[in-house]
Amino acid sequence: MPFSSPLTEQRFVLQHVARITDLAATPRFAAAEPDMIDAILEGAAALSEGEWAPTNRTGDRIAPKWEDGVVTMPPGFKEAYNAYVEGGWGTIAGPVEFGGQGLPNVLGFAVAESLGAANMGFGLCPILTSGAVEALASHGCDDLRRIYLEKLVTGEWTGTMNLTEPQAGSDVGALRTSAVPVKDGSWRIKGTKIFITFGEHDLADNIIHLVLARTPDGQPGTRGISLFLVPKVRPDGSRNDVYCASIEHKLGIHSSPTCVMVYGDNDDCHDWLIGPEFGGMRAMFTMMNNARLNIGLQGVQIAERATQQALAYARQRIQSARANGTSAEPVAIIEHHDVRRMLMRMKAQTQAVRALVYAAAVEVDRARLALDGARQRLDLLTPLAKSHGTDVGCEVASLGIQVHGGMGFIEETGAAQHYRDARIAPIYEGTNGIQAADLVGRKLAGDDGAGMARLIADVRAEAQHPNLVALTDKVADLTRSLLAWEVDDRLAASAPYLSMVSVMTCGWLMERQGRIAADLLAKRQGDPGFLKGKIACANWYRAHIVAEALGLAEGVQAGAAYLFDLNVDEM
Ligand SMILES: Cc1cc2nc3c(=O)[nH]c(=O)nc-3n(C[C@H](O)[C@H](O)[C@H](O)COP(=O)(O)OP(=O)(O)OC[C@H]3O[C@@H](n4cnc5c(N)ncnc54)[C@H](O)[C@@H]3O)c2cc1C
Repeated sequence: MPFSSPLTEQRFVLQHVARITDLAATPRFAAAEPDMIDAILEGAAALSEGEWAPTNRTGDRIAPKWEDGVVTMPPGFKEAYNAYVEGGWGTIAGPVEFGGQGLPNVLGFAVAESLGAANMGFGLCPILTSGAVEALASHGCDDLRRIYLEKLVTGEWTGTMNLTEPQAGSDVGALRTSAVPVKDGSWRIKGTKIFITFGEHDLADNIIHLVLARTPDGQPGTRGISLFLVPKVRPDGSRNDVYCASIEHKLGIHSSPTCVMVYGDNDDCHDWLIGPEFGGMRAMFTMMNNARLNIGLQGVQIAERATQQALAYARQRIQSARANGTSAEPVAIIEHHDVRRMLMRMKAQTQAVRALVYAAAVEVDRARLALDGARQRLDLLTPLAKSHGTDVGCEVASLGIQVHGGMGFIEETGAAQHYRDARIAPIYEGTNGIQAADLVGRKLAGDDGAGMARLIADVRAEAQHPNLVALTDKVADLTRSLLAWEVDDRLAASAPYLSMVSVMTCGWLMERQGRIAADLLAKRQGDPGFLKGKIACANWYRAHIVAEALGLAEGVQAGAAYLFDLNVDEM
């Protein structure tokens, strides 16, 4: 099933949700003019549809091969990656002083959306590289930045992120990888990391690993952790003492090699500190926050891809006459009410999480401009975008299978691949459970609810639909309760509370888009088909998804009641 980038939708969201014109009015982002934005979106669509999308099925069926520490990507990947590097697609939002174009981060997200929708597993390679660029640019010393940034920005070299060890998953502070200083100012690292995405491959000449480790004076837990840069090939051209011991066999994203990485097997793994000793978590959070928004975007990518595929199938699969007697002949299943319900849900949910993720991504730009409240809004929206975006990705991919009926369960249609691919996103980059804990802990209690109060005030200033007004009032009430509760009740309520806040935010952005679309339609400006679709999805979202979110309030209110009634043996 061919994929096509949702260009009109991306332009609309960039304009009316991200308000990219406001960014372009500042000297820093003056280059982000409408013509430039159009050229970038169209170029990214051509690369995604022409070069990346054809690798999607190949990568799922063939997967990367490991042999003696060497990982060989499936056919077509090298060419598709070279086209990405040669076209300068990695440079869009990169720092100008290191060869980047310095354009808005949110525009880079639109490009990443198209690439990842074409091939979600492959799209992880640029995601991790851009996270490494951000961490290095923010925390690296001048020497490291000079040696590594330019080639990472272009994508000639790729980046990885190394937190996980067998005993240290969500509990990063349990890591055991160690690093000791040597006289020349570098360090020697030793340890094994698991689940390292694109830890080894043949797409680039060098792979730059960002690795968390404990130094000799590092106390236990996260406070004693430092971040190190470990190149596969050292600056003098020699091969470093790091290798890939194996790759995993997975449910989905087969085209992304998930590697066991061994550092310092021969006690000769050269590495360099990024940021201050013991400042590892702060530096790694720069990379993780970037990656969390990008994983939320993966939810959008897979939802878009699954929706396009389901719509195409529903238009051509013929079954039964209409139940209301308007046709005696069998019709395409898209005519039947339940298939319509699923397709409207898929379309509306996809648009909603795109708005949420782009709204978060533009706060990175607003924070770079030091605009009032931008950092606080970004911090608040990050767990929502990651968690709700990826939950919706799974839901929409599952509905995509349902729309196909039995053929959805058969691999050759491709609907099953989207479902398998989608399932990792709620797990990595901090599970969605950890995101919910982050929301009610660091993000809500951290500023005593000030950031949430600002978000609620912004939604209230625009909300008109009674369901959205009611949901916003409920979120405001529950927020007051949560702030007063003990930690057990707060954590027990965190997942449904996160869903309610996410749907409130999505409802707000959907309502705004629906209103603007109606206005443009009345003035006969823009594509009437697209605008009608926008209005329908905004209406559907508030009538159904916002109404459902209201129903979560009782569960939030229950807190930890009944949760620990059974002891571990009784469970
Ligand atoms: C395909 C793939 C790619 C990956 N890529 C990378 C990568 O590039 N770099 C990297 O460093 N890691 C990577 N990971 C690791 C990934 O980030 C972890 O799997 C994830 O953080 C969860 O850790 P875990 O698997 O140890 O699960 P666990 O931490 O054991 O969690 C198991 C369950 O318990 C829950 N849980 C755990 N602790 C708590 C708590 N305190 N409160 C509430 N619930 C809790 C979790 O939410 C989850 O539901 C990847 C994993 C996979 C599968």
